[in-house]
Amino acid sequence: MKVEQCLVLIKPDGLVKSLTGDIISKLSETQLVIVGAKIVQVTRELAEEHYQHLREEKFFDELIRYIMGEFHTKRVLALAYQGEDATAKIRKIVGATNPELAEPISIRGKYGRVTTRGVFENVVHASESPKEAERELKLWFRPDELVNTIFPTQLKKVAIEKLFWK
Ligand code: GDP
Repeated sequence: MKVEQCLVLIKPDGLVKSLTGDIISKLSETQLVIVGAKIVQVTRELAEEHYQHLREEKFFDELIRYIMGEFHTKRVLALAYQGEDATAKIRKIVGATNPELAEPISIRGKYGRVTTRGVFENVVHASESPKEAERELKLWFRPDELVNTIFPTQLKKVAIEKLFWK
């Protein structure tokens, strides 16, 4: 067994349906640790980078609009989990990609649906492998937004503009 990290996204339909608590409770059965969490307003750039492997699919445009929140709310909850066999444990509870084929007691089986337009509204995303998890977590989180990260970091001096309260 190996310590891994896994990105979970509660997608806009999950937030609109008020499923955050249920999903986090269900995932707590894995006894994995949450090492990062934040609400994100997904930009087109982030969405397209996240789903880069599906760029050629005919459902790509709808998928980008879905994760950006055009059909529900413009928010996603990003969670970083860590622990032994994190990706396999989480994917089992999350269930199959197509909610109609997902096990009925999985998160997607319980709460997902396929819309009349054919969009798989499957409520959550979970990284499919440790390699994908690393790519995705580095895309969604900065190092200082994760505690206990297992990925190497480096210090760089930069001049930046930051937002402060007026
Ligand atoms: P995942 O890792 O189980 O989320 O599966 P993928 O990485 O293959 O797909 C990413 C997301 O694209 C899925 O969660 C679905 O929202 C959507 N998706 C995947 N396959 C299909 C499909 O055949 N049709 C539609 N409409 N959406 C799909």
